[in-house]
Amino acid sequence: MASQEEVFKKIVAHCKEYGFVFPSSEIYDGLGAVYDYGQNGVELKNNIKKYWWDAMTLLHENIVGIDAAIFMHPTTWKASGHVDAFNDPLIDNRDSKKRYRADVLIEEQLAKYDEKINKEVEKAAKKFGDSFDAELYKSTNPRVQEHIAKREALHTRFAKALNDNNLDELKQIILDEGIVCPISGTKNWTDVRQFNLMFSTEMGSTADGALKIYLRPETAQGIFVNYLNVQKTGRMKIPFGIAQIGKAFRNEIVARQFIFRMREFEQMEMQFFVRPGEEMKWFAHWKEFRLKWHKALGLGDEKYRFHDHDKLAHYANAATDIEFEMPFGFKEVEGIHSRTNFDLSQHAKYSGKKIEYFDPELNESYTPYVIETSIGVDRMFLSIVCSSYTEEQLEGGDSRVVLKLPAVLAPTKVCVMPLVKKDGLPEKAREIMNLLKFDFKCSYDEKDSIGKRYRRQDAVGTPFCVTVDHDTLQDGCVTVRYRDTMKQDRVKIEDLHNLIDSQVNMRHVYRKLMQ
Ligand code: ATP
Repeated sequence: MASQEEVFKKIVAHCKEYGFVFPSSEIYDGLGAVYDYGQNGVELKNNIKKYWWDAMTLLHENIVGIDAAIFMHPTTWKASGHVDAFNDPLIDNRDSKKRYRADVLIEEQLAKYDEKINKEVEKAAKKFGDSFDAELYKSTNPRVQEHIAKREALHTRFAKALNDNNLDELKQIILDEGIVCPISGTKNWTDVRQFNLMFSTEMGSTADGALKIYLRPETAQGIFVNYLNVQKTGRMKIPFGIAQIGKAFRNEIVARQFIFRMREFEQMEMQFFVRPGEEMKWFAHWKEFRLKWHKALGLGDEKYRFHDHDKLAHYANAATDIEFEMPFGFKEVEGIHSRTNFDLSQHAKYSGKKIEYFDPELNESYTPYVIETSIGVDRMFLSIVCSSYTEEQLEGGDSRVVLKLPAVLAPTKVCVMPLVKKDGLPEKAREIMNLLKFDFKCSYDEKDSIGKRYRRQDAVGTPFCVTVDHDTLQDGCVTVRYRDTMKQDRVKIEDLHNLIDSQVNMRHVYRKLMQ
């Protein structure tokens, strides 16, 4: 069986070969951690964004959207704390000259302890069979206990170092744990330094005294600075939310794992404004709703878990991540943060404007508290592609690669194929496409054998293939072939629309979210 690393390489190659994701400006050898979405990628990405946007703004009467500019007044980033505190601790290996995030190196070490513990438990489960009690085994087996104790000690030390911003201690942990550079294999580390992640540029000509501005590292601030505009013009009553989808930029130190960590990426963020003191209730509410949103796609409930933060950002009083099991381990896809009234208070202070809400029920004014849900479109894209990518051995020694994408997100919903390129079949196929194409993204394919055409559609995740043959002209029926089961049905042309709609219409997923 292929290792997870090999599988991941195949997924990256597949994304390129089938027009999902290309390295940016590839003819010039690409640009580090910047990617372009191709003809299939953009459709999948747009469908993800639609699913999120509708789940927020269509299903919640009290959430509205905005689209703020990427460039913002530079004081925004002073107020938000990003100029002073948006740093990652970086460390270099002197032999390989490679740069790493010190916190990520330590998190990977923690994951290694988890792996050791899981392996021991799996081994014992095989040995003892049905009567095996994993929790009991973990709490009594000396070897597992030793791994757990080491993990816990490391975890406590790491969390303290992060919270104290103690860079020397982070380095010392790396040395004490014997963490080596994966490239050079040595422990020849530099000191840990802080590195600000914001990109900057200049606005206006230098003659006029150009203004140093930043490319936004998160979309959230565009929402905070528009809080009053939206609340007043939309006559919004607390609790209410503002949603936004847009690009964000971070000069990431370590750019690895394809589109998992990019320097230009896209976020879908929603800031939910609540009464002070009610933030924990809403934090719990949004944790639950967001997990439901993920699970409703049917990628497998066991692939998700919550991970509470060890270090809270400068603005937060509670934070958790929704992690997804990627081929390289459980990784953050979404963050849910209780941001207190930090951002609005800071903007009030720096702008000199009063940013408050008059609560008619309480008959008092206050600065609202904020719960934020923040998800990366690209990470969501990656999690979907990774869990959908399947290699199957077929009867007769044949094999196929199929992207078992949730049908609602698939770039193309239906491919219409005339069996042969003559006898009026192409014309009939076009007629069928014209029936479907206003509602579903369709494609048309008349080249090569039907088998080859099916494989091409499997590779891009098209849930339905519709074949027009000579009988169609007589009986008005077509062959529908289903992507995942490869089963085929004879279906009346007039029933096609309903059949496809029953699988690909997002309405069905929205209903699940409201249950
Ligand atoms: P990480 O710890 O992985 O750097 P983060 O905790 O800094 O991520 P947040 O600031 O909470 O991330 O951003 C919210 C979401 O934005 C993340 O859950 C992720 O999906 C996405 N995101 C953040 N940084 C990147 C990036 N460099 N590339 C792609 N997506 C990103």
